[in-house]
Amino acid sequence: MKLKDKVCIITGAASGIGNAIAHKYAGEGGKVVIADLNLEAAQKAADDITAKGGSAMAVAMDVTSEEQVNEGVAQVVAAWGTVDVLVSNAGIQIVNPVENFAYADWKKMLAIHLDGAFLTSKAVLPHMYAQGSGSVIFMGSVHSKEASPLKSAYVTAKHGLLGLSRVIAKEGGKKGVRTNVICPGFVRTPLVDKQIPEQAKELGISEEEVVKTVMLGQTVDGEFTTVEDIAEVALFFAGFETNALTGQSLVASHGWFME
Ligand code: NAD
Repeated sequence: MKLKDKVCIITGAASGIGNAIAHKYAGEGGKVVIADLNLEAAQKAADDITAKGGSAMAVAMDVTSEEQVNEGVAQVVAAWGTVDVLVSNAGIQIVNPVENFAYADWKKMLAIHLDGAFLTSKAVLPHMYAQGSGSVIFMGSVHSKEASPLKSAYVTAKHGLLGLSRVIAKEGGKKGVRTNVICPGFVRTPLVDKQIPEQAKELGISEEEVVKTVMLGQTVDGEFTTVEDIAEVALFFAGFETNALTGQSLVASHGWFME
C-alpha cells in the first residue's frame, strides 16, 4: 500500500480523471477527499469508495472561492489532522477562436485552472510544511506544452501551471514538499465529450473527424489515454518519496506529444 493513511485531497473528483485518481489512491490505503462543486455528486463519489472498503469524505468546494477552499481544507484537517497529498484537478473546457472568446469565459477559465491551483496550494502548504512532507500535483495537459486552435484560455492556463509548480517546488524543497504536473493527452470524459460537437461546428468537420484527426491524429496508435492511465501517473507522483522528483511534468498521451 503506497499511500497508507495518507490524507489526499483531489479537486474535481466527482467525475472523470479526478474520480479515477480517488479510487486508485483509496485502493492504496489513502484517505481521500472528494472536493467538488456539487456536494451531492461529491458525496456519491465518496460513498462509492466507502462501499468498496476505502476511506473517503466529500467536501463542497468551488476552487475559485478562497473562502470555500479554506473552509474545505479546514474541514479535512479537523477530521483527519493534516493534508499529505493535493491533486489540483478541477477543470472545464471552453472552445472558441480568440476573436469570439468572451472575456468573461477567459476569466472563468483562468480562475478555475490557475486561481484554483494557487488557492488550494496556498491552503494546504502550511499543513505540509508543518509536518515536513507533502506532494502537490497539478493536472496539466499536453496543452501545458503544445497549442491547439480554439483553446486560448485553456492553453494559457495549462502552461501557467508549469510555472506555479516550479515555484512551489523551489519554495517547498527544503520543507519536504514536492510539486509535479501530469500532462494527459485526450481522455474520454464529460469534459472531452462536450467539446466534440463544439469543435465539429467551429471547424466545419464531422464529429468523427474531430475524434480521429484533431484528438487522436497525432497519437502513435489512434487511441485515447484512459482515466486509469492518468491515475497510475498520479499514484507514481504521490507515492514518490524524495525530492529527486520535483518541479517535473510527465506527458501521458499515446505519443501525441513527445519530448
Ligand atoms: P470532468 O468534466 O469529467 O471532471 C471535472 C470535474 O471538475 C467535475 O466533477 C466538475 O464538477 C469539477 N469542477 C469544475 N469546476 C469546478 C470548480 N470551480 N470547483 C470545483 N470543482 C469543479 O473532466 P476531466 O476530463 O476529468 O478533467 C479533469 C482535469 O483534467 C481538468 O483539469 C482537465 O483540464 C484535465 N485534462 C483533461 C483531459 C481530457 O482529455 N479529459 C486532458 C488533459 C487534461
